[in-house]
Amino acid sequence: MTHVFGPVSSKRLGQSLGVDLLPPKSCTWNCIYCQLGRTREYTLLRQEFYPPAEILSEIQEAVDSGAHIDWITFVGSGETMLYRGIGRLIDEVKKMTDIPVAIITNGSLFSLPEVRQEALRADAVLPSLNAGSEELHQKISRHAPGFTFRRHLEGLIAFRKEYTGNLWVEVMLLGGVNDTDEALKDITGALAQIGPDMVHLVIPTRPSTEKDVLLPSEERIERAVALMQEVAAVVHPIKGSMDLSGTPDILEAVTAITLRHPVQENELRKALEDRFSDSPQKVGEVMKEMFATGRFSLITQGGEAYWTKKTE
Ligand code: SF4
Repeated sequence: MTHVFGPVSSKRLGQSLGVDLLPPKSCTWNCIYCQLGRTREYTLLRQEFYPPAEILSEIQEAVDSGAHIDWITFVGSGETMLYRGIGRLIDEVKKMTDIPVAIITNGSLFSLPEVRQEALRADAVLPSLNAGSEELHQKISRHAPGFTFRRHLEGLIAFRKEYTGNLWVEVMLLGGVNDTDEALKDITGALAQIGPDMVHLVIPTRPSTEKDVLLPSEERIERAVALMQEVAAVVHPIKGSMDLSGTPDILEAVTAITLRHPVQENELRKALEDRFSDSPQKVGEVMKEMFATGRFSLITQGGEAYWTKKTE
């Protein structure tokens, strides 16, 4: 499958079927923590990058496979809302299944009424807010010209006024960057203006291409939770876990996930051990088969080994 991957297990969305609508990498931002590598050229024009029928038939196939899916999640190789017609895609998904639909987005295009209109159809929208000031917004997102913090915040405030679904704002906490008291208070102030249903605090547990992206300390994480929970319930960050139970083609499933973002070797091994609890020799066999495809490299960052897509 080209567009659909998973279902992958996530703390926030349970068993989530990912749908990638974009050619890599298509984004309005160039975040310092991005796992997809640098944005070589900003994408600013919304387009129908792939025919809707192609995407919908893959979703239909995944839904028909009988795998347990809690959410169908539009997310992928850049900024999701750059796909023009995402609203119609959601309408079509809703005709085929009752499974709720989520959009993971950087939120940078929400100042445009037509973008907000399309996002209204989702059951949950998870936009990013990593800063509460122009300076930090620029420093972290390294956005295309014009995508200012003010415009970002106003877009999210406008969306909240129109949207009655679940607005779960994602805050990426970066050690030494946006985890000072001043930065956390600015972010909390911006969150208070938006009024999300929940705040999802996340940390960079997967390697980025930038060397100075650090994990925040536990003390800073607790401080962030304490401040932000005055505005909304906060989902505390923990390392993600993969759940491969019920996945029919393991090699294809882990390959699809790892090609999209690096996976901690421990996490991969644990998921395979859970899946093959009655035949543990399969764990090594699958990892060997994956490696033999020649599509992956093993890298180490912060003392952790990761499987990642081999770069040409
Ligand atoms: S918004 Fe997402 S895809 Fe775009 S640069 Fe940031 S992390 Fe990467």
